[in-house]
Formats: sequence, structure tokens, C-alpha cells
Amino acid sequence: MARPPHLGQRPHHWNLRTPPRNPSRNPPEPGSGHRSKLRESPLSVHRVSSPATMAQAPARAASAVRLFDAHCHLQDPRVVAVAPALIRAAAASGVARFAVNGTSEKDWHLVKRMAEDHPAVVPCFGLHPWWVPERSPDWMDSLRRFFVETPEAAVGEIGLDKGSHGKTIDFGDQVEVFRRQLKLAKELDRPVSVHCVRAFGDLLEILKQIGPFPAGVLLHSYLGSAEMVSGFANLGCYFSLSGFLTGMKSSKAKKMLKSIPLDRILLETDAPDALPKLDNFPVSPIPVPTSDTDTENQSQDSDPQAPATSNESWNHPANILIVLKYVASLLEMSEAELAETSYKNAINLFSYPGSKVHPEAEAN
Ligand SMILES: [Zn+2]
Repeated sequence: MARPPHLGQRPHHWNLRTPPRNPSRNPPEPGSGHRSKLRESPLSVHRVSSPATMAQAPARAASAVRLFDAHCHLQDPRVVAVAPALIRAAAASGVARFAVNGTSEKDWHLVKRMAEDHPAVVPCFGLHPWWVPERSPDWMDSLRRFFVETPEAAVGEIGLDKGSHGKTIDFGDQVEVFRRQLKLAKELDRPVSVHCVRAFGDLLEILKQIGPFPAGVLLHSYLGSAEMVSGFANLGCYFSLSGFLTGMKSSKAKKMLKSIPLDRILLETDAPDALPKLDNFPVSPIPVPTSDTDTENQSQDSDPQAPATSNESWNHPANILIVLKYVASLLEMSEAELAETSYKNAINLFSYPGSKVHPEAEAN
């Protein structure tokens, strides 16, 4: 099956009025104020060491920070074969949770199974706009069945896309599919992860018509303007930041970030997409499994063509540390404060009734 990148070149985005920050609590770390000063690699996952040792690694063993990858696709055919190794490597770097988003009827079962196999995986089911033309006549019934069978699931990835690929897909169909899934998220009282490329005006209008969303809306890989933040935030939106932010002019990114209320900031990788690109800041490639143990849980139904070898263009969840470092530098916050703030925000968003995530259990 041809595998279009699920998000391609995506200029998504938005913004809001910043509540007073508390600079006295956590002053910026020395050297955190400029991108060119980001030199040290936070990662040590070039290779996954022996699966036995990785399996023993506690979630916070190698890191003082605790992070929640609020949006990724570990079921993607490019990485599903090494997903267990990626989860272990990220956990050793402090990533305690992963919201894994399905994108079409063809991968929902993979997300469901991954969540069953990995307690840290929060499953999300949705029909991505790129896959709208391939939906079956009973796609909505099928989607509803997944939520009945998986009560801990959130909704996503859904959205609107007028980018170079998205504009080849009938926008009326995109809107219809998007609206139905937004209404489902409201009906189920679950958060929903939203993709938006060059359609922010349409998005805001539809969210106003169907919202508000007390269970929350995650605007994933947000790259929108600062001026749009408040309108989205008022409807219950969170702003999730990924490696795509490194492709935005830093002054514009800084203005946008500072417009987001601190209690609405999330961090994500969108892995295997959105590889962060920073000067003097090498990212680690996809870890290569060192034994069959790393792939033993892979789905029988996964793409048999899926490579289990390194590819430098593919992102993985441990790289969220680079997103953390970059966003903290632009916000002039310490990485520790941003990690904890974004983690708590993600816990708030994903602790709906039925979820695996419980705020009390995360207190420590
Ligand atoms: Zn995505």
C-alpha cells in the first residue's frame, strides 16, 4: 500500500493572551535563551542496548524530567516493528506516557493492540483527513465499536487539511467527516486530537458551532499565529508543540509560544514525522533492535514491508527532549519547569472517565 506521510508538510497553527508567569519560581537556565546555544545532546539512544537491560529500565531512571508525548503514531508502518524498543528507550529518557493516534480504519486495531501490550500507551482512534477518500461506508459504526471495546481511548487524529496533499481531497467530505467525529468526541466526553493545515478559519468556525469542548481539544503540532490562540483556548483547546516548530522563524515561534496560556501547553513528537532540526544539535536515529525480543510483539497484521532498520529521517518519542529544550529556550523557562508543566497539562487532558491516566497516581 502506498503510504502517504500522514501529515506531510504541515503548516498548522495559532495563539493567546499569556497569563502572568512566575519567573521567580524557576528562572531561566543559563544558556537557555538562544537556539545557537543548544549544543549538548540530551539523548543516548543511538542504539538500544540489550533488550534485557532496556526492559528493566524504570520510566525515570535516566532522566530527572517526566514527559508525556501527547501525540505520536507508533503504529505507523515505518516504525511499528520497533515500537517496543522505541517505547523502552523513551521511557528510559523520562517519557512516561504516549498518546498513540490511529489515522484510518486500517490501523485502529494496531493502536488498540499496542495499548493492550503497553500500559504507557494511551490509545486514540480517528479518521485523518488524508484517509477520508478511502473510508468504508460503515466507517463510523466501526469507529464507534472501537470506542465501545476500548473505553480508555480518546479521539484522534481527525482534522482539516488544505495543504498540498490535503487540497486534493474534497474539502466538503473532510468537513463532514471532521464534524461527525467532533460530535462523537463531545458525546463520549473524550479529548480529541486535531490536525489542521491552512484551514484555521474553517477550524475555528466549526469548533465554535459544535463546541465548547469541556473534555478538551488538542491542536497537534501547532504552528498557527499568536493572534489565533485566544479564540481556540476559549473553546477548550490545548496547544501541542512538536519538532515542526524548529522550522518556524524563531522570533515568530517565540511570540506564538508566549501567547499560549501555561496551562494549555503540551509537548509531542508526532513520531515518526516531525523530526526536530536544530543547528549543532544532532538527533538520534531510530534505534535498531538488537534481538528478536524487540519485535516479538509486532502485529501479524502490520506491513510486512516495514523496515526494522535505522532511518535518519524518522522521528521517535525520545526526541521529545529536543522539543522540550527548544520550547523552554524560547519561553525562557527552565526545562524542568516546562517538562513538569506540560506533563501536568497532559495528565489533566487525558484523565477522562475510563482513561488509564489518573491524576492521583501521577502525583509522585
Ligand atoms: Zn499526527
